[in-house]
Amino acid sequence: MSRRAIGIYLIGLLLLTMLVGGYYLAAFDYGNLEQSPFATTQRYPTGTWSREKLGTQNLHRSEKDPATPDVLLFHGDRAFEDILTQVGFGPRIPGSIGHDKTRAWIQKELEDAGWIVLVHSTERLGHPIYNLVAQRSELPPKIILGAHYDTRQFADRDPDPLKASEPVPGANDGASGVAVLLELARVMPIDTTPTWLVFFDAEDNGRIPEWDWILGSQAFVEEISVSPQAVVIVDMVGDSDLNIYFEGYSDARIRSEIWTVADELGYSEYFIQEERHTIVDDHLPFIQAGIPAVDIIDFDYEFWHTTEDTSDKVSPESLQIVGDTLMHWILERSR
Ligand SMILES: [Zn+2]
Repeated sequence: MSRRAIGIYLIGLLLLTMLVGGYYLAAFDYGNLEQSPFATTQRYPTGTWSREKLGTQNLHRSEKDPATPDVLLFHGDRAFEDILTQVGFGPRIPGSIGHDKTRAWIQKELEDAGWIVLVHSTERLGHPIYNLVAQRSELPPKIILGAHYDTRQFADRDPDPLKASEPVPGANDGASGVAVLLELARVMPIDTTPTWLVFFDAEDNGRIPEWDWILGSQAFVEEISVSPQAVVIVDMVGDSDLNIYFEGYSDARIRSEIWTVADELGYSEYFIQEERHTIVDDHLPFIQAGIPAVDIIDFDYEFWHTTEDTSDKVSPESLQIVGDTLMHWILERSR
């Protein structure tokens, strides 16, 4: 063997020793890692952390640490902007320019947030009806969230009789429900239980000749075949003096679920677990069809169906409270 050959032989032997030694060391470490209590405690929290963290955030956010915008999911401020936009379009009476503009704008906002928008067009009592249906998958909906986007033709409860024939601006009655749904559309995680957001037309013209209440939702239930587990309507949820009581027709179990979530978030002052009003609203056609539905509505709103239902009567904070509650209820139902 030459000197060079001996050198190569020694290097080869060294490499072989390193390879075999490394293998044993690696095998030893790996075996220990599987059984070591350290490894177990490391793995356990990673598996359950996200759910626990979400639960803690809920309470921290509203009760203990309100100034943590990084963990806010639903933005009340942005929802409030959506109210200003709708009121800026003018009255949203079916057939009006404001109604057309609002419908086009809702559709664009939803599409920008990644939703597919279908228009359910039909007619009732001789009036065209356009319900907007937002979806994110082809799966049938387990949850439907709804709000009406039209406004009332006449402010017939205005204390000034001269104003009773003017249209309702609908900052709360119309715009607030839409605003909550649009903000949810922007922030709802993609993997929630299949949910549709439905923007109902022609809700608010009852007690007017040739019109009636809830025409859009009635047409929807009659013509669109769905069997969700829960339908939740939001209507008049922006009042800066927010008091949302149990509504009388609403499904008792789902109602209780939602108000309990609100309570856990520290919102029991606003979501009051007592029955107070029974209201004809867009949840009723679902209930009549045997589909569990709930109406989230603050019916103690002194500017209801008056010309004073304007943006200064609603607040980002109220939208935040309702949005947070719905968001967390959906997340709970998506587990
Ligand atoms: Zn109304």
